[in-house]
Amino acid sequence: MNNTILQVSELKTYFFTRIGVVKAVDGVSFGLRKGECLCLVGESGCGKTATALSILRLVDSPPGRIVGGEIQYHAEDLLRSPASRLRRIRGNRIAMIFQDPQSSLNPVFTVGDQIMEPIRLHMKLGRRQARDRALHLMEQVGIPQAKERMKYYPHQFSGGMKQRVMIAAALSCDPEILIADEPTTALDTTIKAQILDIFRDLKQKKDMSILFITHDLGTVAGIADRIIVMYGGRIAEAGSVLDIFDQPKHPYTRGLLNCLPAISERREKLSPIPGVIPSLIDPPEGCIFYPRCQQRMPVCQQKRPEEFVISGKHIAACYLYA
Ligand code: SF4
Repeated sequence: MNNTILQVSELKTYFFTRIGVVKAVDGVSFGLRKGECLCLVGESGCGKTATALSILRLVDSPPGRIVGGEIQYHAEDLLRSPASRLRRIRGNRIAMIFQDPQSSLNPVFTVGDQIMEPIRLHMKLGRRQARDRALHLMEQVGIPQAKERMKYYPHQFSGGMKQRVMIAAALSCDPEILIADEPTTALDTTIKAQILDIFRDLKQKKDMSILFITHDLGTVAGIADRIIVMYGGRIAEAGSVLDIFDQPKHPYTRGLLNCLPAISERREKLSPIPGVIPSLIDPPEGCIFYPRCQQRMPVCQQKRPEEFVISGKHIAACYLYA
């Protein structure tokens, strides 16, 4: 049964700057299924956040522009939906959580009011019902003394508690899809584990689809169903957690795994990927990982590698598997 609820096809998002066109997302395709957690992983600047922002058409324009592709949500192409329709989908059917809760929360309103706002806007509930729902959500994400804390302002919360508030606000209208952009990056290890538990719960108990974006491959092991590794605005490799952790194929994925302390312990030492992230202005014709790749071949420079099937849904954009 095909239970894909969001299909991104050949997405291209470019930024038109004074010094040239930055191809931040350059032909990315993937599907998100009902009730799965799909993780987009890669170093900063690989295009994962631009991909997420493109789904909700939140790319700053100018300088950004979605120049190609389709984003199919059920039967609707979000790139061609009227702005009014998209406003109804955002925060209601598809919600997003950002890395820095501080900049997402308004300092002059109480957190209770900020969680209630989308409930009243999208669910058309009265103030009392909206307050009850906000209270329930705050308790659900583990905010103690939630009734009292609804009256607090953002500065009265710690970083971890602010992120819980953001999750509660994102869940306010019971979205079908939750996009979380580096939601645990600014948090310490204990709080990070607690926040990841909330995401696991949402997936299991509410059958929510989660697009989880992170630069940290170590974070995704316990939460992902599938992983997409991005590099230079393109997909390098995609597969199940087992595919990526036990049978990594793309030299970039292997390089990322070698940077993980727990895994590299078995391999005696950490080995960072040599070289630097490429400029996405006028990227080379061939494989974008070519300058850093230890296994490069002449063909890699000539033409961009397509996504070759390793087995089942495991794919790698690398000529080693042509
Ligand atoms: S296509 Fe070539 S350069 Fe690119 S990752 Fe594979 S082997 Fe390396």
